[in-house]
Amino acid sequence: MLKIMVFIDGTWLYANMPKLAQLRGDPDFHIDYGLLPKTLADSVAEQMRTSEPDLVRTYLFGSIADNYDPRDEDPVRRRRDFYRMLKEEFHYDVEVFTVNYYGKRLRPDDRDPKDRFEPKEKCVDIALATTALFYAAMPYAYDFAIAVVGDRDFIPVFQAIRRLGKRVAIASIRGCCSGEYIDQENKDRLRDLDMIWLDDLLDRLELRYENQWLECESPYHTGDRKVLTTFRPRKGQRFYCEECRKLYQAQHDSMAYGIGRQKESALSLDSVSTVQDMPAMELRKGVIKTIKRDKGYGFISADDGNDYFFHASTLCEGADWETLKENAPVRFAVKTVPSVEKAGAATNVSLYPEESEHHNGNEL
Ligand SMILES: [Zn+2]
Repeated sequence: MLKIMVFIDGTWLYANMPKLAQLRGDPDFHIDYGLLPKTLADSVAEQMRTSEPDLVRTYLFGSIADNYDPRDEDPVRRRRDFYRMLKEEFHYDVEVFTVNYYGKRLRPDDRDPKDRFEPKEKCVDIALATTALFYAAMPYAYDFAIAVVGDRDFIPVFQAIRRLGKRVAIASIRGCCSGEYIDQENKDRLRDLDMIWLDDLLDRLELRYENQWLECESPYHTGDRKVLTTFRPRKGQRFYCEECRKLYQAQHDSMAYGIGRQKESALSLDSVSTVQDMPAMELRKGVIKTIKRDKGYGFISADDGNDYFFHASTLCEGADWETLKENAPVRFAVKTVPSVEKAGAATNVSLYPEESEHHNGNEL
């Protein structure tokens, strides 16, 4: 069986996503990262005329902004959550390196036009090269490296992998790829197969939202719980039907605990339509402070010293609204960061018994 490892230059792929969308003629085009490794492996197997390749592992190397302007919290959180999704949902091995923005905005357009600052990405290329070469030198780790790249910096590593007797395939995008890789005669001896063009595989790679039947898990759901939806819940995430989410949002918006509620709804479940758009969650611990049993909400007093509002429908992992008690230790995700004038909002509230903390203490 053909053992394959995939090495993705995530920064390059991310930067060239608009190019793929343009080639597809659909500004909303997104790659289905769950399908990407298998599609590439199949493409190699087709060229090699073998069946059922053994996809050993997929690595993605990327970066994340650090020390940036707080106004850019949202995109950074999304990116962090995207990496988490790759790991949790699709079992990618993700290696992420920080880029120091020195307190500046992420987008050049948002910065002072006179500001000549250019963020410097560190380590991403070298990490990809090191990992690919490390496994090439490791007996039986892989037969074939598929590199999803475009920059010419990787030339030496592909040559070294091939000198070790392992094969290389390069997957790239037309118009975003260094000439050395494309060269018909393969003068630099970089690859063992024809180029794999992602732009030829868009049909197979497109993220599609297909309707499926899911059961609404809201305690306030009325009628048949089975609903047809394009929503794809993440692992461990509860599914609430549109009706219940609207109800939740309406109740939430009417809560008199501060201004600026409308803005926050941009991050609500309602607007979450793609896996990439899932709000990233920071986890906190605390205890239940108050429960408004009849109203369906309560407040958590968190270890960070702040209070967090939570709704009954955000309980998960064994936390039951009917039996939930005040002072119960809980763990939750921060949906809205607290500010001076209002409490934060919590979601994914689960019971967090002290004893499990000792068992799991080293897992993070
Ligand atoms: Zn429902």
